[in-house]
Amino acid sequence: MASITGKFTLFNVKWTIEESRKKSPNIYYISYDRNVITLYTDFEGNRISTDILVSRFWEAAFKVILVQMQKAKLLNNSEFVSAYASLLEQAIVTLNVDNQYSGGFSLGIKQYSIRKNPQLAKEDVIGRFYCPTSQIEVTGNHTHEENIDTIFHEIVHAINHRLGLQDHKIDREDNVNVLSKLIAEIYRTITNKIFINESAIKKTRVK
Ligand SMILES: [Zn+2]
Repeated sequence: MASITGKFTLFNVKWTIEESRKKSPNIYYISYDRNVITLYTDFEGNRISTDILVSRFWEAAFKVILVQMQKAKLLNNSEFVSAYASLLEQAIVTLNVDNQYSGGFSLGIKQYSIRKNPQLAKEDVIGRFYCPTSQIEVTGNHTHEENIDTIFHEIVHAINHRLGLQDHKIDREDNVNVLSKLIAEIYRTITNKIFINESAIKKTRVK
C-alpha cells in the first residue's frame, strides 16, 4: 500500500510523492509514465529516519531533472548523473539561508558560505561564486524570488567546480540557468514540508 504524501511541479508537469512500506530492493522508484516518485520507507521492518527519507526524496527528484537534461544532451554519462544528483541533494538538504541572505551549505565535507554583498551591483552582476574561498555572494537588490534564484544558480556553479566541470558545456550560463530554475521550481511548489529545510523554506516559497 502506498500513500500520497506530497506533490510538486517540474517543467510545469505535476508530480506526486508516494510513500510505501512494501519491501523493495530499491530505496525509491521513479515512474516516468505516471509522474510519481515512490519512496520506500521501511528497512527490515523499521521505518527509516526522516533525514534519510528527505535525502532519498531529493536524490530521486534530481534524477528526474537530470534525466530531462540527458534527453536534452546536456549530460550523457549515467555515472556522472548519479554523482551530480548526489551533490545537488547534499546542497539542498544542508542549505540554510536567513532573511539577510546569509548562510551556507555543504558538498561532501566542504562547507560553502552565502552572504549578501550589495557592492557586487557595481560590477553589473547579481551574484557570483568565488571558488578560492568557497563563497557565494548575492547583491540582495532584487525581489526575494530573484535573489533565491540567484543563490540556486551559484550553487549549481559550485557543484560544477566541485566536479571539475567548470569548462564543460554544463557550466555555460544558459545551462546553469535551466538547472537552477528547475531546482527552484521544485523548491517553491513542493507540498510536503519535510522535504524542505525549515530555515530556508520560510523565505523561499512563494505564497
Ligand atoms: Zn552564472
